[in-house]
Amino acid sequence: MELTRRGFLKLSGAGLGGLALSQLGFSTPALASGGDLRILTATESTTVCPYCSVGCSAIVSVMNGKVVNVEGLAESPINRGTLCSKGNSLFQVSNSDRRLQKVRFRDAGADGWKEISWEKAIEDIAAYIKETRDANFVTTQKNAAGNDVTVNRTKAIANMGGAALDNEELHLIAKFARSLGLVYVEHQARI
Ligand code: SF4
Repeated sequence: MELTRRGFLKLSGAGLGGLALSQLGFSTPALASGGDLRILTATESTTVCPYCSVGCSAIVSVMNGKVVNVEGLAESPINRGTLCSKGNSLFQVSNSDRRLQKVRFRDAGADGWKEISWEKAIEDIAAYIKETRDANFVTTQKNAAGNDVTVNRTKAIANMGGAALDNEELHLIAKFARSLGLVYVEHQARI
């Protein structure tokens, strides 16, 4: 079949209907096999890309405990089904054999890492926060007039939010940080 440019535009402008496609050389079996390639038996769940502050939503498909596909979530008003190249590589977070699955800790002065449990990690972090806060907490500071004013703060600890956190989580984290007297409360998106 000889196809002119005008004829091609006319056919493709017909909404890629079956008749037009067949005239362009696409066969119905080919289209059907494209449908079969979809991961029909996979379990799908939605998530938010953790890589940057845009916060694109994605559908993650899992088969036999392994991520087999990641694609943008069309319903997201942010990315409307798209993902950048970094977001498209999200499956590596789960599938990479270099993924760390246990907490690793390097002690002060140590020349290597050791694995510790989540329970120990959380207990240690809490102890470090308390120790640092107690040693550096300031209750008052002189103002420009030379008078003591209450500040109740520590500049020895900083808090950093991340793109994977949602509004509610960040609200609670900020409250927690302020309740400890932190003044350096920042977010990845601002730096
Ligand atoms: S898909 Fe790309 S643009 Fe979207 S949140 Fe992830 S890294 Fe950012």
